[in-house]
Amino acid sequence: MKRAPQRRVAVFTCMDTRLVDFLEPAMGIRRGDAMVIKNAGTAVLDPTGGVIRSLTVAIHALGCNELFVIGHLDCGMADLDVKQVEADMKRRGVPADAISSLKPDLEEWFGGFRDVYANVRRVTGLLVDNPLIPADVPVHGMMFDPATGGLEVVNAGY
Ligand SMILES: [Zn+2]
Repeated sequence: MKRAPQRRVAVFTCMDTRLVDFLEPAMGIRRGDAMVIKNAGTAVLDPTGGVIRSLTVAIHALGCNELFVIGHLDCGMADLDVKQVEADMKRRGVPADAISSLKPDLEEWFGGFRDVYANVRRVTGLLVDNPLIPADVPVHGMMFDPATGGLEVVNAGY
């Protein structure tokens, strides 16, 4: 099996446990087909950060020519209790200065949101506008339902 994805597709989605072994089959993606990048909430917070780094490698080194941004219903980052997380960090010895060093603040650093659809549209737009991602790579935004396995197009890349 080669390193490059057989279907030349990269998928960027959330780390939610319910997507494991469920999203890929729903998309018809099997081992060797696609690069899959995950984080908390399908968030892009930095135009040269880790997600963009991975997508740049996927496109420019491994031949991906199509991107899918896939949010999901009932995402934990849509109602993240930042105060509770901060309290847990402090209770478990994370230094206050490590927390206060996060820019611009803890809440924005987490990149939470209220509307899962708005987040998919926003992230899709950020990828389309990112100069490191060539204009000939379509970026599709989709919504996954972790209860049913249903997929819905939020915005088509072409
Ligand atoms: Zn999620």
